[in-house]
Amino acid sequence: MHRDAGDLARALAGLGAAGLRRERRLIDAWPDAADGTRVRVAGRELRVFCSNDYLGLAHHPALAAANAAEAARSGSGSGAAHLVSGHSHAHHALEEQLADWLGRERALLFSTGYMANIGVHAAFAGRGERVLGDRLNHASLIDGAQLSGARLLRYAHADAGSAARMLEGRSDCTLLATDGLFSMDGDVAPLPALARLAAAHRAWLLVDDAHGLGVLGATGRGAVEAQGLDADAVPLLVGTLGKAFGCFGAFVAGGRDAIELLLQRARSYIYTTALPPGTAAAASAALVLVQAEGWRRERLRALAARLRAGAAQLGLPLQPVDGPIQPLLVGDAARAMQLSAALLARGYWVGAIRPPTVPAGTARLRITLSAAHDEAAVDGLLEALGEAWREQAVA
Ligand code: PMP
Repeated sequence: MHRDAGDLARALAGLGAAGLRRERRLIDAWPDAADGTRVRVAGRELRVFCSNDYLGLAHHPALAAANAAEAARSGSGSGAAHLVSGHSHAHHALEEQLADWLGRERALLFSTGYMANIGVHAAFAGRGERVLGDRLNHASLIDGAQLSGARLLRYAHADAGSAARMLEGRSDCTLLATDGLFSMDGDVAPLPALARLAAAHRAWLLVDDAHGLGVLGATGRGAVEAQGLDADAVPLLVGTLGKAFGCFGAFVAGGRDAIELLLQRARSYIYTTALPPGTAAAASAALVLVQAEGWRRERLRALAARLRAGAAQLGLPLQPVDGPIQPLLVGDAARAMQLSAALLARGYWVGAIRPPTVPAGTARLRITLSAAHDEAAVDGLLEALGEAWREQAVA
């Protein structure tokens, strides 16, 4: 592929020419340590509308305190993989709390959601078998299917009928995998229909609710709760701790034997260092707040409603979805970048999402809300969006 330095330079130039070169933006500081939605970048203060810190917990002092106290007791690093000497009290307690909260027999911590999805596929699918997945599933589900050696069949987005047609007459599909709340589209998978389908074909249903857990459902138990399903209907549930939980890491929750098989088989669990114990303790503190502070979910819903009402008045094409992820479809990648830059110039940081993260021709601004935002911030964003959109229309 890339044999010499010239090839590398050409590949990079090609990405630039297509408007697809990605860059990191350096955050210098948080002017208010307790508010994760305001950052200083290159000497300017920006309001962040692109993070996944939906409940505003990443900067909560209770999490930092739990982290520091556990690190002082148990060390800054776990020192080894869980199956060697890395599995300590903080990890174990968090697993039990998560399982209990979600009404599952067990939960198993992974270092990231990416690794959790790779691991579930490795344990539940293999060569000679099929995995069925939503066309817009997160990259880690797609990579997990590919690494497992199974063949991946992709059904039309959020379309259980399409999934059913692909399964017709098949008995070799062992895993049906879907995002719960879709990360780039903000909509929710049709879980009851997918659960019926998986059961009828004796396939395991894996729901990756990285974005829905903590946020959706009356008590924050995610897309599964919002759609009234139980643990039998969704035997494998992936959650992450780096989004609504404001920490880092991930877990798979499920039945006793399913989780034991994962522990025995998932290479992305076995061959990697356990999370720092302080991170696990911080996640336990976050779980207490997720359960106790329902006002964060209510606030998020109110802010989403405010954004949607304002956007409708301005004629902005927000996708018709509820929830904290509010995509504004733009289409062209370069135009999405220009809009993002125009917002940045006005002090608002909103991510432009381009291919290959989303299908070609569907570049978008991915606006995400946080319970740490206030009404004034949403109103300010709307004003900036209105101006930037009009500028673009004229240009
Ligand atoms: N699943 C989904 C749906 C995601 O959006 C993400 C992260 N963007 C992941 C899994 C990966 O989680 P992590 O960041 O913990 O690796």
